[in-house]
Amino acid sequence: MSSQTGNVSRSRGQKHQNVTAFKNDKYGASAQVKKAKSKVHDGLCQHCKDVLEWKVKYNKYKPLTQPRKCVKCLQKTVKDAYHIICKPCALKLELCAKCGKKEEIVIPLDKKEEEVEDTSQPNKEKRQKKRDQEEEDDDGDFDDLGFSNDDYDSDS
Ligand SMILES: [Zn+2]
Ligand SMILES: [Zn+2]
Repeated sequence: MSSQTGNVSRSRGQKHQNVTAFKNDKYGASAQVKKAKSKVHDGLCQHCKDVLEWKVKYNKYKPLTQPRKCVKCLQKTVKDAYHIICKPCALKLELCAKCGKKEEIVIPLDKKEEEVEDTSQPNKEKRQKKRDQEEEDDDGDFDDLGFSNDDYDSDS
């Protein structure tokens, strides 16, 4: 029988932070928020644009972390949070990219391709949750070592 005590020599990854390319702005907004604030809500109707601007204003705007499925072309081409239709489809069908209705678009979509932003992980604040989940070794191997014979009360 082997009573392994867990091997504790697990090397944790290095935890230096990436060199930040974006400066946080001085009001303490994260790069994410700043990016959201600079966002142009194009291809949206007045209502949806208002909604998104409101979200940005109250820091409720959560950028997408990965593309969503467009309800029209069913490709994962929606890159804007809260949108349901990708830009090409919205442009082609002249629909609001968020509510999908045929509304008047406040800021028309640009036909030119968006610059490919390769910011799949825009958040710099890495929360490195250390999970010290050390699995509890079950110390259940008490084999009979012979010290449990209290039953033998010698009553002689
Ligand atoms: Zn589409
Ligand atoms: Zn809309």
